[in-house]
Amino acid sequence: MTKFQDLGIKEDILRGITDQGFEEAFPIQEAVIPVLLTGRDVVGQAHTGSGKTAAFALAMLQEIQPKNGIQGLIMAPTRELAIQISDEIKKFAKHTKLKVATVYGGQGMGVQLDALHRGVEIVVATPGRLIDHLKRGSIELRDISHIVLDEADTMLDMGFIDDISFILDLAPEDRVMSLFSATMPTEILRLSEEYLKNPKQFLLDADDLSGEGIDQSYLVIKDRDKFKYLIDFIKPIKGQSIVFCSTKYRTRDVAKFLHQEKYNAVAIEGDMSQHRREQSMGKFRSGKADILVATDVASRGIDVPRVELVINYDVPNVEMAYFHRIGRTARAGAKGRAITFVSYSSVGDWNLIKRQIKVPLRDLNQEMGIEISIPDPLKRQMPSRRYGGQSRSNYSRGGGRSGGYGRGRDRDDRGGGRKRYRDRDSKNSYGGRSRW
Ligand code: ADP
Ligand code: MG
Repeated sequence: MTKFQDLGIKEDILRGITDQGFEEAFPIQEAVIPVLLTGRDVVGQAHTGSGKTAAFALAMLQEIQPKNGIQGLIMAPTRELAIQISDEIKKFAKHTKLKVATVYGGQGMGVQLDALHRGVEIVVATPGRLIDHLKRGSIELRDISHIVLDEADTMLDMGFIDDISFILDLAPEDRVMSLFSATMPTEILRLSEEYLKNPKQFLLDADDLSGEGIDQSYLVIKDRDKFKYLIDFIKPIKGQSIVFCSTKYRTRDVAKFLHQEKYNAVAIEGDMSQHRREQSMGKFRSGKADILVATDVASRGIDVPRVELVINYDVPNVEMAYFHRIGRTARAGAKGRAITFVSYSSVGDWNLIKRQIKVPLRDLNQEMGIEISIPDPLKRQMPSRRYGGQSRSNYSRGGGRSGGYGRGRDRDDRGGGRKRYRDRDSKNSYGGRSRW
């Protein structure tokens, strides 16, 4: 086990680390920090909750000089994640003279401009709002020496890639850049070569998406029975839970039902005002709320250590989202539980995800003696069977979904799925519809 001192971290940063109660570097930190400090680009993959934030943040803080302009830029896909990263860096930087600004959509420009005017060395941003600042000249990238893309596979995905390219073109060529995510599909690794120079890759557990320390199970039930089971599973939980739903509408509904049952639940989804989003996250982080009901806006990167249980109220319609969602529990080596509700119509989607889960998965129908009576789609579509292929295409709804990496799907094939509303407006989100 390596101490942070042994990684050559400066005294003033070490004090911030000690304040956090970190004693030893986690494996990804031990691997990545020395390499970033030599000025080499890095791709860092390690499972959810393994400490990737500190890996890039500490290396950045070590290299950046006070009062020399904006030298560090970190980009993240959601506002809540940008805020979280920023908060974590501020804690590490507490005993240094380095300052951080957080730049994201939905918050008034004034607050951000004030922060920037005071002079900062590090900016943590979501891409849409960063571009607005770049266009109005309130942020310049000429002094940038360190760039990080957190949740890099999302950042280099179709929804963000144009924005990211635009931003990177404005930054100096001579910079250290790193990518981090729990999921690093080969097509993203290939794409990263366009942006990184001879990166050193750390794929710590790339073949094992399973979710260490998470007891995973699933239950096939009728959609209308889901709420009853949700209550059954949530009732005995002493810590916190996150319930992931497939749409904003369902998120609101489930939160409403939980309120009616007198549960202390908050919701987060992309159509809520930023103020309410932050209010919900604030209550959940502080433990004032026990349950967070969320769309995939909360599936990536969010770190709330007390989360004991993740319930996928709906099967996610992007495969990687499953592993990110369940990774909201079992943070930093803790234990957690994830239960997925599979409605009859999602069995095909679920089977695709199930194939990628490499740890024992508990079948709750069997354990709890709950029978499944899925209408046989082949029987239901008898007439079309006569025409060969047609019944198959009706049956395998999941096979035609968009968004699954690693199944050889063409990137251009995603238009039909939910990613359609990943347009520029949505990311800017001044009232425009957001992805989640
Ligand atoms: P990831 O980005 O890999 O999902 P995070 O960076 O969010 O993980 O870290 C997960 C949790 O682990 C956070 O609560 C963080 O404070 C904690 N953590 C990170 N590094 C250490 C460490 N070296 N010792 C103890 N806790 C740590
Ligand atoms: Mg992270």
